[in-house]
Formats: sequence, C-alpha cells, structure tokens
Amino acid sequence: MILPKANRLSPDQVSVLDAIVAEFGCRLQPIEGAVRTIYAIVGDERHELMINRLEGLDFVERVDRIQSPHKLMDLRSDLASHRITIGGVTLGQKLFVIAGQCTIDPKNPQLFLETAHAVKEAGADAIRGGVWKPRTNPYSYQGDDSALEILMEAHRQTGLPVDAEVMDDHQLKLALEAGVHTLQVGARNALNYSLLRAIGAAVAGRDNAVLLKRGMHMGPVSEFISAAEYIVSFGNPNVLLCPRGTAPTLDGYRNHPDESITPLLKERTWAPVVVDPSHSVGKAAYVPACALAAVAYGADGLCIESHVQPAKGIGDDPKQSLTPDVLATTITRARALWSTLRG
Ligand code: PEP
Ligand code: MN
Repeated sequence: MILPKANRLSPDQVSVLDAIVAEFGCRLQPIEGAVRTIYAIVGDERHELMINRLEGLDFVERVDRIQSPHKLMDLRSDLASHRITIGGVTLGQKLFVIAGQCTIDPKNPQLFLETAHAVKEAGADAIRGGVWKPRTNPYSYQGDDSALEILMEAHRQTGLPVDAEVMDDHQLKLALEAGVHTLQVGARNALNYSLLRAIGAAVAGRDNAVLLKRGMHMGPVSEFISAAEYIVSFGNPNVLLCPRGTAPTLDGYRNHPDESITPLLKERTWAPVVVDPSHSVGKAAYVPACALAAVAYGADGLCIESHVQPAKGIGDDPKQSLTPDVLATTITRARALWSTLRG
C-alpha cells in the first residue's frame, strides 16, 4: 500500500509508480478516500528492491506491506500444520527440554557423560554439548573436533538426541556425518546468511532439526523469522526459534531477557519457540525463574545449560549452568505450569 505525501498524485507521478510496480509483475489499484487517495499494490508486494525504489520517491510518504514478508513461516502458510519431532517427542505436545553443558571438555569426557546421564534423569528430552564454541574473546577455548565423539557417546549411552552449534562448513560436515540430531546456529551467526544457506542446504531431505538462536542485535521479530525462513527455504522445515537474550541493557543480567517475545513470534509463525534462559540472564541463580517465565509466555521448549560440577566446567558452565538437582526441580515446575496453561 503506497501512501503519497499529497492527498492526490498528479498523472505523471502515478505513471512513475505504475512503471515501477509493473517491472515487478504488479499493478496499482487506487483507493479513493474522501480526502486522500492511496494506492494498493496488486501482486506479490514482497520485492525488496521494488519497495526501496518506491520509498525513494520524493512524493511517497511510505509503503506499508500487507503481505507477510515470510511466506513459508507465516501462520497462513501450508507449512503451518507441520509438526517437528525430535527423538520421538513432538514439539507442542510436551514441553521439550534440551539440557547439558555449554562446552564439552575433551580432557574430561567422563564429566560430560555424567552430565548427560544426569540431565536425562532430571527429565531432559535432548542433550546439548558445545563441541565448537563461538567466544567473546578470541583467545578463549574455541572447542575441538575431538569433543564430537564424546557428544555422540553421550547419545549412545543415553539414547537421547544431541544438539551442537556449528559455525562453518567443516563443522557442519563433521556434525552431520557423526549423526548430531539438532544443529544450533548461535546468536553471533543468526544473520550470517552464508552459514544459514549452507546449513539449510545440508539438512534438506534429512530429518535433522535446526535451533536458531536470536541474534544479539536483532530488532523486529520479522528479522528473526526471516532468518529461520531462509533455512526452511532449502527444503527442511524443522526449525526451532530460540530467544536467548539480546544485547545487554540491564545491570546484572548477561543479556536483555527476551522470553517475552514468545507470544509475538507465535502470532506470526507456526515455528516452535524454545527459549534459552541460560544465556539470557547468564547466572545460574536467575535461570529457573526465567525458564518459568518463558513457559508462562507460551514457549514450547527450553534449552538450559546444566553441569554435574559447574565449577569444573569450561566455557559458560561455571557461572550459568544449573546443577542436575536444580535442573530437575526447574523442569518439574516448568512442566506443571505448561500443563496448567495448555491442559
Ligand atoms: C551456547 O549455546 O553455548 C552459546 C554460545 O549460545 P549463544 O549463541 O546464544 O551465545
Ligand atoms: Mn554457553
């Protein structure tokens, strides 16, 4: 919908608009009001370049889009009836919980295996373990290929599906070859379209899922949903949206908690929302409340860092991992709330 600056456009100005929209296979339909005439764009109005060119005209005030910018992720899309099942659990039928260490320490595989058994015991449906790690400081530990075998051993021993972040083609290839079930896209890479493209193409035709973290600097929810759509556009619709806090604005929390965007996402897209309270608040003491808040806001799942001995962890574990007993209480309470709200 084109809103002109003046109440009426001159015939020459209308011809300029006509010519631009025609280039993109659309046409104009004037809608004459008592005072002002506005112009509907009939056709697919999602062409970014068309909108940019129209908005660049000095007689156009703004262009409002009526169609959703993400046709695959939209609630009205054919994919809206798609259900994602991971390790036998269908998202939406039960609160889906991913839990495990931030980072697998390849020097201490036993610790990760103990954590894997403990999170299963606590009620988790999937195990997370960082094999390769994006870091704030490039001199911090960045992960190691050898941790992948430990992650897969945890899967073999517990029978639970596993989740790991990948950041490049090498890691993507190794993770898929090893049988990692869910690939995580980290907050630092949520807008790295070449990585999203590589992951989307690699999981097409497979039953893997992708957990897309919300980027630290992402603004409108449409930006988040569009990034998910890009992965889905290659053919595999198993994408989970993971709010994990945006750039910090609160003294005391690691990031700005954003579980409250869950209803906004759910109004626009069918994709399940799995909130990560651990990176959001960044301190173990605050994680359980954030997890419950996420469920209250309508989350379909949680991704929680947990460690049998957080103090011995590397990466984020010492500060934000829950011990298995706290994890168990949190999962029990979160599932009780989930049942109350959805039951
Ligand atoms: C993580 O899951 O350990 C991680 C690094 O997450 P994020 O990308 O949200 O910072
Ligand atoms: Mn972490």
